[in-house]
Amino acid sequence: ERVVASGADDVERAAEAALRPRRLAEFVGQRVVRDQLELVLHAAIGRGRAPDHLLLSGPPGLGKTTLAMIIAAELGTSVRVTSGPAIQHAGDLAAVLSSLEEGEVLFLDEIHRLARPAEELLYVAMEDFRVDVVVGKGPGANAIGLTLPPFTVVGATTRAGLLPAPLRDRFGFTGHLEFYDPDELRQVLVRSAGLLGVELEVAAAVEIAGRSRGTPRIANRLLRRVRDWAQVRGDGRLDLDAARAALEVYEVDVLGLDRLDRAVLGALCERFGGGPVGLTTLAVAVGEEPETVETVAEPFLVREGLMGRTPRGRVATPRAYEHLGLATPDAGQT
Ligand code: ADP
Repeated sequence: ERVVASGADDVERAAEAALRPRRLAEFVGQRVVRDQLELVLHAAIGRGRAPDHLLLSGPPGLGKTTLAMIIAAELGTSVRVTSGPAIQHAGDLAAVLSSLEEGEVLFLDEIHRLARPAEELLYVAMEDFRVDVVVGKGPGANAIGLTLPPFTVVGATTRAGLLPAPLRDRFGFTGHLEFYDPDELRQVLVRSAGLLGVELEVAAAVEIAGRSRGTPRIANRLLRRVRDWAQVRGDGRLDLDAARAALEVYEVDVLGLDRLDRAVLGALCERFGGGPVGLTTLAVAVGEEPETVETVAEPFLVREGLMGRTPRGRVATPRAYEHLGLATPDAGQT
């Protein structure tokens, strides 16, 4: 994986790539998925064949891209990286597919955002290892069927439920990534601190882990921010005081909720009286796409028992009011 740093986003991405575990044994947590993958991969290696196509689902930052790279490394092959939104036309995908080498891994991030024609091309490629390439233009155009060498698609999606059934069915295995518990995040942090060459005190690691929204990407990002704080305003030590002070500067609250989480929860409690309210209405209220609210904010809020999903819409729990320091609406009547 090559990373060229230029803009701020790229700098973050480069920092992230540097902290990526390279092998399955280094990958912290996700015992179930790790176990399942190990079986699939070792069986394929034993048979000397490319494994089935693999789908990874879960909220952002839980390790889907990392696992895709690891899958290629474990198979001893290379990985080609692209994503649903990056593929504008079916022809772009055809070009990628027809340049794959035998046994390669094709990582398709945000696969649920592939445009329809590309999706249909992908079905055929995944099932029959064939791709139709159109040669020429206008009435003289010709579709030439190309046979592809065996390869493995590793798809990633924030919600497996968003995938059309025919696409989902072409994956031989779906791994569902779960939020990490604080102890697992602490292990991620200790490993990252080692790679960054900084000394992270245990109490600081525990503090950061507890406020990382169950997400390694966030844990690593907060670690870098704590390091900044220690360097600029502290004495260089990554201790509990530095961790607390930095987390305060970056407005990470005690549960690790970020700005979007708090906006969603605040709107739900204050503007919609605790719900039930539909996802789209809620998304409009916070100025976000419904998909972002559903895939980025909601899973964590639900898991923390701050929000509930009912057939009639999203509802706030008493814990949400408590966390925001608001009075429960019908507290007087109960
Ligand atoms: P996703 O593709 O699901 O959005 P990534 O694979 O890009 O997430 O992971 C984000 C960052 O978190 C990576 O830089 C990686 O270093 C770190 N990370 C994710 N999962 C783990 C893990 N299980 N162990 C250690 N680090 C992890």
